[in-house]
Amino acid sequence: AFNFCAGPATLPEPVLKQAQEEMLDWRGTGMSVMEMSHRSDEFVAIAETAEKDLRELAGISDDYAVLFMQGGASSQFSTIPLNLLGEKASADYINTGIWSKKAIAEAKRYGTVNVAASSEDSGFVTIPDQSAWRTSADAAYLHYTPNETIGGLEFDFVPDSGDVPLVADMSSTMLSRPVDVSRFGLIYAGAQKNIGPSGLVVVIIRKDLLGKARKETPTMMNYQVIADNASMYNTPATYSWYLAGLVFKWLKEQGGVEAMGEINYRKAKKLYDFIDDNDFYANPIEPRFRSWMNVPFTLADDALNGEFLKGADARGLLNLKGHRSVGGMRASIYNAMPEAGVDALIQYMSEFARERG
Ligand code: PLP
Repeated sequence: AFNFCAGPATLPEPVLKQAQEEMLDWRGTGMSVMEMSHRSDEFVAIAETAEKDLRELAGISDDYAVLFMQGGASSQFSTIPLNLLGEKASADYINTGIWSKKAIAEAKRYGTVNVAASSEDSGFVTIPDQSAWRTSADAAYLHYTPNETIGGLEFDFVPDSGDVPLVADMSSTMLSRPVDVSRFGLIYAGAQKNIGPSGLVVVIIRKDLLGKARKETPTMMNYQVIADNASMYNTPATYSWYLAGLVFKWLKEQGGVEAMGEINYRKAKKLYDFIDDNDFYANPIEPRFRSWMNVPFTLADDALNGEFLKGADARGLLNLKGHRSVGGMRASIYNAMPEAGVDALIQYMSEFARERG
């Protein structure tokens, strides 16, 4: 079966198999990783190796702290303003869809949000041209969402934020292709796409941005505290951290993010090419900004949606139903989705259009 779901986790099969083999007895310790003390030498080694591998994969220099936090990407929507607004009056946000809107709504609880650009008028099918953004040189940071998971809209460039720290919700971008981390002040990513199980959130923060949290910031949300305690201020999500570590090892075996980026480009391109060439299917996003990870599409007749999904299920093409707010279909094709899965989907879509179109 091929699972086209956007989460709560899209783990590569070899990783799940390894986890299964190690589940009851991790390397002769007689314990599951789940049962180990997070202060034990064994777990600390697992945690440190995961961080080291992530740094290697994503090219993260020592100028940045890597934090393994909890509460998913959504908790960062408030953690970020609490930590980064500091003395500044406002922060800039770019609105490109549902996840940007959620980040904006949350930040408004803590300060003034300047929506410097929005593609809402277009129905979020494009990215506003950067030359028209109304950013402020005095903003605490500039926040954007490189890949809007639900809309299937992805930036094909890294915005230029000048001296203002650039903050990115990379939940659906992280490790899907090479990214120049040095362009960013802070990157955060809910783990459940290309990293590991949901609940875990990885934060990559430039060290000069630590230590600026407002005094009322909950301790668990204070980046400085989490960094000082190597992400073990409280009991971390140990098993998720371990699984993320297995994913990082798997990614390195695949050739890292460069190799992954090539595969992902190919997977997305063949699916969009097929959709564009076939009158029965449509994707509304401006081609330049189509997501490599999430491909929403509609059928020529919505009344056929149920039948399409039933037929897909019968072939082991699972979870193609679009997000409830968008409708239609969505194929999420994260790193864990092999190219064969995309080929099987195209084959099915082609047959369905022939028979029912
Ligand atoms: N941001 C983006 C781009 C997402 O795709 C998601 C979830 O899918 C979130 C934020 C929210 O993540 P979480 O459910 O981990 O809070």
